[in-house]
Order: sequence, then C-alpha cells, then structure tokens
Amino acid sequence: MSRFFSETVSCPECSASNSVRIWESINVALDPDMKGKVLDFSLFVFTCEKCGSSTKLLFPLLYHNMSNSYMVNMVFPENEGDLSRTLSDISNLFLSIQAFSSDMSLVGRDYRFRAVFNPVELAEKIRIFDNGFDDRAIEIMKQDLFEQFDSEVNGGGIADILFDFSSGRPMFVTLFNNGQQTLCHFSRTTYLGIVNNMRESYGRFSSGGCEIIDRNWAREFIAATE
Ligand SMILES: [Zn+2]
Repeated sequence: MSRFFSETVSCPECSASNSVRIWESINVALDPDMKGKVLDFSLFVFTCEKCGSSTKLLFPLLYHNMSNSYMVNMVFPENEGDLSRTLSDISNLFLSIQAFSSDMSLVGRDYRFRAVFNPVELAEKIRIFDNGFDDRAIEIMKQDLFEQFDSEVNGGGIADILFDFSSGRPMFVTLFNNGQQTLCHFSRTTYLGIVNNMRESYGRFSSGGCEIIDRNWAREFIAATE
C-alpha cells in the first residue's frame, strides 16, 4: 500500500503553516492515480492554503509498480558514503520484501530495483518500464547519442537526454544548456540489437540488489564489454 505522513511546512512566501503529505511509498497497483502526480511532478509541489503560492517539496520516495515488476527508490544521500549505505539499506529492504512476498510469487520473477536521485530520473524510469523497455539498453543508447553530439558542433552544450513516450512511440528528447530541446529518432532495431547482444553481459555486470542505471553505468558497461 501507499504510505504517507503529515508534516507542517511554512510557506516561504507568507510564512503560513500548511499541513502537507510527505509520501514514503507509492504502490500504483493500489493507488493508480498517484502515477500521474509523479509524472507531472505535482506530488513534489505544495500550494499554500493562505496565499496560493506553490513551492517545491522534495522527499525520498519508494515507487512500486507490482504489475510491471519494478521498484524505484528516489533517494537524496548527502555524500558518497551515505550513498553506498543507502543502497545497501534499500537492497536489504528489497530482499525482505521479496522474502515475505514469496506467496505473491515475486521471487524468481524478473523484478527490477533501481535508485534515482531526482523526480526527473524517477519519471523517466516509470516511462521506460511502463512502456515495456529495458532501462539498461536505453542508457546505452543515450550514451551513444551523447557521444554523437559531443563530436558535433553542439558538443558540451547538452544538459540531458531523456527517454520520452508522450507521442505514443519511443523518442529521445535532448535538452541543451541554453534551454532549447530537440527530438531524436529512436531506432527499435538498435534497441533490440542491444537487448539481444547484451543479455549475458548484463548478468555479469549486475550487483543483483538496488542498482543505479544511469549515464555512468552505461559508460562503465560499454568500457567493460568492448
Ligand atoms: Zn503562503
């Protein structure tokens, strides 16, 4: 089930006290409405009851989709030591959930467990998994795109590349530091080639617990398997 607690937060504009919901975990199989609020980031904004101004509010969150077999943990470790401790904590949490959920036949299924560090990364994982894609192959494709751009005129000017499915088909959105963005073609042939070629290497390269599958992961994977 989804869990939250209430906390009193002062509005930065008018200082009024507001009671806001801080979500600890969201299970979209049980609370399907919550997915939209994560994808449009409205879950991480509170609107002051007194003056109506909106303020960002970030909190760690476990996003769980049982039907598509994945969990994404959004965490905000303060330093690297905290990061490995956080990852080991959430890996243990995952194992304990697996253990007591055995009658839900989670064990043995291809459950994916990821850590991300901001709502944009969380939303991207949801888009990738809910549309049936493999985030490891997606990150490898994104890394290829980064390298293509680096060798072109725009080199160095890219803020991020994100997987997108808003048009009903897969695309990449490239965000430039100057605020511009451009859509890039998604080749299903390339995607399927990566998934098939790397099926074995993924296993060798997997920690088994909670994993960070991001641009760094893709760079290390490509370097180790070339
Ligand atoms: Zn206010």
